[in-house]
Amino acid sequence: MIPADLGLPGLFDVHVHFLPPNIQAAVWRQFDEAGPKIGRSWPIRYRGTDEERVEQLRSFGVRRFTALPYAHKPGVADYLNGWAADFADRVPECVRSATFFPEEHVGQYVPAAIAAGVEVFKLHTQVGEFLLDDPILDPAWEAIAASGTPVVIHVGSGPVGNAFTGPEHLRRLLAKHPDVRVIVAHLGAPEFADFLGLAERYEHTHLDTTMVFTDFFVPFPDELVPRLAGLGDKILYGSDFPSLPYEYGHQFDGLARLLGRAPGLDEDWLRKVCWYNAERLFPSPNRSTP
Ligand SMILES: [Zn+2]
Repeated sequence: MIPADLGLPGLFDVHVHFLPPNIQAAVWRQFDEAGPKIGRSWPIRYRGTDEERVEQLRSFGVRRFTALPYAHKPGVADYLNGWAADFADRVPECVRSATFFPEEHVGQYVPAAIAAGVEVFKLHTQVGEFLLDDPILDPAWEAIAASGTPVVIHVGSGPVGNAFTGPEHLRRLLAKHPDVRVIVAHLGAPEFADFLGLAERYEHTHLDTTMVFTDFFVPFPDELVPRLAGLGDKILYGSDFPSLPYEYGHQFDGLARLLGRAPGLDEDWLRKVCWYNAERLFPSPNRSTP
């Protein structure tokens, strides 16, 4: 799927979900019903078993990917993280992924997860309805900042905003913990300009491309396109596979269409976005078992 002349080892997709089958089924029911957090018809295209979906990613040329779990209430992060650890043990391309929630013991299980080899965390404030700067999370953020473990955060107000989404939430977190390696999901959609501004201001704040530049999603404003070039070291390819209402390759095509639209949006930029920026953040697969 990726043009061979780009010369990449493959795609590095930093925004992929694999969840325990019962939870995945519940999430897809939300999409099928266009539930209140979805807000529109969203026919999911990739509904196979875990094994089938791993094979699909391989067939698309994806050579490394995350398996981002996220908690919608207290008391489930442990279960999700245990499942995600087993998944990473059996899928060599998987970046070891985990989540956390503002709850008792979060200050213990996050450092333990890092010690056990977790390479990325995922938070979803729209679904979980919590504040990123909830004081109960401070010990977790301190451990994450000290270890440099990246955290993918869905905190933009797309597809449906609530009291826990929007740039001010990340701004408050970064004021307290500026060194946390954040990856803002969906380029912060729809508050693109504010989240681009945070990535420009904070050395360790990044953005992922998930669903942006596709025909399905909130349009990316033309006037912001030149700023994507300046952020060429901080933008990471992400897709949201498997919960896609279109063909997987459509995400890459959307990025390729940006080339030439502003100075610096060239093939080197695309190579960094699709592979090298993520490889720098996730340098070596952390495998506790072969
Ligand atoms: Zn996602």
